Amino acid sequence: MTGSGYRGRFAPSPTGDLHAGSLLAALGSWLFARRAGGRWLVRVEDVDTPREVPGAAARQLHALRAFGLHADEPIVRQSARHAAYRAALEDLADRGLAFPCWCSRADLAATGGVHRACVRAPDPDRAPAVRLRVADGTRVRFDDDLLGAQVQDVDADVGDFVLYRADGLWAYQLAVVVDDADQGVTHVVRGADLLDSTPRQILLQRALGLPTPGYAHLPVVLDDEGRKLSKSLASNPVDPANPLPALQRAWAALGQAALQHFEDETVSAWLGRALAAFDPTKIPRTATQL
Ligand code: GLU
Repeated sequence: MTGSGYRGRFAPSPTGDLHAGSLLAALGSWLFARRAGGRWLVRVEDVDTPREVPGAAARQLHALRAFGLHADEPIVRQSARHAAYRAALEDLADRGLAFPCWCSRADLAATGGVHRACVRAPDPDRAPAVRLRVADGTRVRFDDDLLGAQVQDVDADVGDFVLYRADGLWAYQLAVVVDDADQGVTHVVRGADLLDSTPRQILLQRALGLPTPGYAHLPVVLDDEGRKLSKSLASNPVDPANPLPALQRAWAALGQAALQHFEDETVSAWLGRALAAFDPTKIPRTATQL
């Protein structure tokens, strides 16, 4: 590998098989990393165990290999990273930046869904969630490499958000920030469905003294009826036994000019030509249909 310093990643949750939308994020993040002469990592985001589908992680990893998208370093699994999340949470709590909260969904609904402060007395019989304290008036701005300037009023629109859930599970926001930092990720390329999580992640990076990577959010893929594809709906799984048609569809959804597949051409050879032709300026800025 070269020493460009670029480190990208693809971080699927094993809530279903790889589908057209996740293949787009995998291919897009791979193209950006390879184009920069950098490394491309894969992380299995298996903290939300109730939503996990047995066997899905193995099938996703198998599919990535079949699509010619090979991770440069050993796969990281969030299920093996509890100690790192615990250390980050304790660090925040020690500095008064995180606090236990017994609010229920109904409490939240009563305050318009935006959490400003725990309205419940501590309940020794019930485990609390742990939330990040978001200071009054907190607004986060960042420049998305594809979508340009973004701003979110995290205080008014999100509030004190959950880092550790009352049901004993790590929240995605905390796990992703700790992992991206520990893996030295310099560039996050992922679906625009996660765009509104990014300000929360930047706030957490600042609270934990971690660097903020670059962000590029790829168009969300819609189905024929204009609904977002989601792996949990098992929509449009891609066929690892026949990778090129799905790769070509993902390539087209990235706005790239059609690239024919020569007879007997391997997936790796096709990907090599795709990489040479890849033009990020053509990536659509709005949701795209397959
Ligand atoms: N695990 C998340 C998902 O599958 C993606 C996380 C990320 O790319 O930051 O939707």
